[in-house]
Amino acid sequence: MTKHAEILLECSGISARYGHIRVCREVNFSVGAGEIVTVLGPNGAGKTSLLGSIAGIVAGEGAISVRGKSIDRLPAYRRARAGLRLVPEGRGLFGTMTVRENLLLGSRLAPEDRRHELIAKATQLFPVLADRMEQRARDMSGGEQQMLAVGKAIAGDPTVLMLDEPTQGLAPQVFDILRRALEALRNDGMGIVLVEQHHAFAASVADRNIVLVNGQIVHSGEAGQILGREALMASYTESEI
Ligand code: ATP
Repeated sequence: MTKHAEILLECSGISARYGHIRVCREVNFSVGAGEIVTVLGPNGAGKTSLLGSIAGIVAGEGAISVRGKSIDRLPAYRRARAGLRLVPEGRGLFGTMTVRENLLLGSRLAPEDRRHELIAKATQLFPVLADRMEQRARDMSGGEQQMLAVGKAIAGDPTVLMLDEPTQGLAPQVFDILRRALEALRNDGMGIVLVEQHHAFAASVADRNIVLVNGQIVHSGEAGQILGREALMASYTESEI
């Protein structure tokens, strides 16, 4: 249970499966307003599948609510409309569309009278986007594309933002920009779920951590309790015995 006042995302008994093969089971966690929960674990642990199940793009079971409203029976697009937004590993951008068009598309999940302000918020967090409004997404660097992917999600005014390995393949300079953006969003009261393989980056922003091994939570706790690299590696190994 989070110490934060309002629970924005509550997940209980979550599974994820491909056909009959279950890759996550009985995952329970919640995310409070202004809280960053990181999901750590070895390759193949089921982190991406877990986010997919919560977002409604991977089959699964379990109870999911956003701000107390049950969304687990809704299709993915209605979960997004209910405030749950996933920035997937592949970033989910439209490569032939410009930065402006991608941001406009993201903003369509927000009320019409707030779209302008939300796009401005995205470009304030990532000023490079303001300079590249007419550039095609596919012509941007990996770091710029990641900023656009997060900016596109922000433009849709999410309650809960789920990010799947946003630092993957990026230069360390981009880490700082992403870290500052996540901190600003947390200060705004957003709930953030961050799947991350880069442990130092995760440790620098996490309020709470979950460690997933073989599709199940083997540890969860306040940041700092379990994120020492050695302790984390030990938790992977212990659970495999
Ligand atoms: P990584 O850090 O390497 O991305 P992960 O923790 O995100 O790993 P997943 O990608 O969720 O793990 O994979 C969990 C398990 O589900 C793996 O055994 C993987 O092979 C399997 N899996 C993932 N996608 C599919 C799919 N589309 N069809 C069948 N099995 C899949």
